[in-house]
Amino acid sequence: MAVLIPGFNPGVFTGAGNNTWLIPGREPALIDAATGAGRHLAGLRDALGRAPLARVLVTHGHPDHASGAAAIAAEWPGATFAKMPDDGDHRYPVDWQPLADGDLVPAGSGVLRVLHTPGHARDHVCFLDEAADTLYSGDLLVSGSSVIIPASAGGSLTDYLASLARVRALRPARVLPGHGPEIRDVVALIDHYVAHRAHRDEQILDALAAGPATRESLVAKVYVGLAEGLVRAAGESVLAHLVKLEAEGRVRRLPGDEGEWEAAAPTSDTARPGLRGPAPRAAARRAPRRADPAGRTTS
Ligand SMILES: [Zn+2]
Repeated sequence: MAVLIPGFNPGVFTGAGNNTWLIPGREPALIDAATGAGRHLAGLRDALGRAPLARVLVTHGHPDHASGAAAIAAEWPGATFAKMPDDGDHRYPVDWQPLADGDLVPAGSGVLRVLHTPGHARDHVCFLDEAADTLYSGDLLVSGSSVIIPASAGGSLTDYLASLARVRALRPARVLPGHGPEIRDVVALIDHYVAHRAHRDEQILDALAAGPATRESLVAKVYVGLAEGLVRAAGESVLAHLVKLEAEGRVRRLPGDEGEWEAAAPTSDTARPGLRGPAPRAAARRAPRRADPAGRTTS
């Protein structure tokens, strides 16, 4: 049974702070390293008692999940550290062991299966305890909040939706996320996420039906009354949607330095780049929307 060790790093993007999860047993393992806060290390010390810490398994390289690695290594020199390799890993000076999709990693008295679940980050993995039907979900799923897709820093909404579909098919009974409370109804949460993303797609397409627009003006239209501190994150989210819609042939970038996007004519020709002409705006406005944007994201 995993023990929650809070990271004590509250903030705009971490909510109450990160969750790290200690799996006790023969080889005590910690899911995520948090940021090295003194209270996190104290909580880990208390939970371990006299047991050693065998390994730290990191869901992805964002600082709130990985930057505590050095502080943990200093206190538990016998611990090994593992994550899926990524460019930024040198920021955290421990000897990272590489994880790959499908690996089985000893944790506690059992094993965890590594699931590569990119989208929020390229190197994002979840850890599945098949015996306990429990998924450690990192930043793939957060109850009561949507997940940021940093489109200009390794995020991909298309990948994210595919990762959600993969986890939905597994239907773990219990999900222990990197932020927020435990998730019991994972299918309902994922369906809510997918509907939310489809709704954002529609909002962006609706805004573009009025004519070309920049990412910034789309943020202002789609996120009404957004707190100043969240504008950049919203811009990343809108870009994530635009990149996905572009891959689907539903929007295009206009040439030039303005950073404008426009709706593409939703005909079958849009799937063939050679025939993708400029979109007549009236046609874009009249065109029926496709009914099930979520279904196409799993391929
Ligand atoms: Zn993250």
